[in-house]
Amino acid sequence: MLTPALSNQGSYRGRFAPSPSGPLHFGSLVAALGSFLAAKSQQGKWLVRIEDIDTPRVVQGADSDILHTLEAYGLHWDETVVYQSQRHSIYQDVQNHLQSQGLVYACQCTRKEIKQRGGFYDNHCRALNLPFANNALRLRQNFPVDSFTDQIQGQVHIPRNIAWEDYIIKRRDGLYAYQLVVVLDDIDQHITHVVRGADLLEPTARQLGLFKQLKHTAPRYAHLPLVVTEPGLKLSKQNHAPAIDKQNPIPATLAALRFLGLLPPKDLNSADIEDILKWAIASFSLQKISKVAEKPLSDAY
Ligand code: GLU
Ligand code: ZN
Repeated sequence: MLTPALSNQGSYRGRFAPSPSGPLHFGSLVAALGSFLAAKSQQGKWLVRIEDIDTPRVVQGADSDILHTLEAYGLHWDETVVYQSQRHSIYQDVQNHLQSQGLVYACQCTRKEIKQRGGFYDNHCRALNLPFANNALRLRQNFPVDSFTDQIQGQVHIPRNIAWEDYIIKRRDGLYAYQLVVVLDDIDQHITHVVRGADLLEPTARQLGLFKQLKHTAPRYAHLPLVVTEPGLKLSKQNHAPAIDKQNPIPATLAALRFLGLLPPKDLNSADIEDILKWAIASFSLQKISKVAEKPLSDAY
C-alpha cells in the first residue's frame, strides 16, 4: 500500500520524470533544469523517476542514455532512481483498493465510438457492469477539479468534459495509465513540488482530484512554458527534436537558463558546468519565468 505522509512535510522534494522513449532534447532539458533549480534553490531534494510504464513506447537503452546525459549536464539526483516498470504490484494494490470501494468500472468504448458521440467520453459505460477482462478500466470521477492555481501559469481553468471525465486508469492492453501511476509515484516519493512542461497542465486537474480521492495532500505545481520550434509547434520526440549534446553541455545549458528567465553573465561562457549551475541555483526564481515561450527555439539556441 502507499506509505503514510512524512512528518517533515515542510522540506522540498521535487522530481524529473522522463519517459525513456528517446534521448533528452532541449525541451526535456528545460524541464530537468527547471525542476532541479527549483528544488536546489530551496535546499530541496531532486529525484529522478523513469516513467517506463508505457512499454510499447520504451526504447531500449534510453533510460541509461538519459541518466548519463543528466550527469554530463551536472544534474545529479538525490536518492535511488525509481522505475515505474518495477512498481506494478503497488499499482495493482491501489487498483484493488479503489475497486473494493466500487470506484472502478470497465469500458469497451473504442476511440471511434467516442469520436462519433461528440469527441469526449460521456461516462457511457458507468452503469453497464461490463466484465473487467479485456476492457479498459475507468475511475468514477468523484472529485472533479475545474480550476487550480499554478505557480507559473496562475489561475488555470479546465474544460468541463476533462474535469468530469471518468478517465482510464488501466488500459485495455493491461498497462496502467499515466494518470494513475504519476499520482501514486508522487505520493510514494513524497513529492512536494512538481515543475514540468505546460503540456501537462490539463492532466494536472485529474491528478489533483486523485490526490483528494486517495486522501493525500497534493504537491504544488509549476508548469514551464513549452519550447516551440515555431509558433504553436511543440518541440518533441514526435517531431524529431534533436538530442542535446552530451559532450558539450554548456551551450544548451546557457540557452535553457535564458529560456527560464535567467541572464547568465558573459564570463560564464568559459566557466565549467558545475559553476554555471551554482550561479543558476543562486539566481533562480519561478517569478522570472514567463507563461509562454517568447521566442521559437531557433532564435534562442
Ligand atoms: N513522463 C512524462 C513526460 O515525459 C512527464 C510526467 C510528469 O512530469 O508528470 O512527458
Ligand atoms: Zn465505454
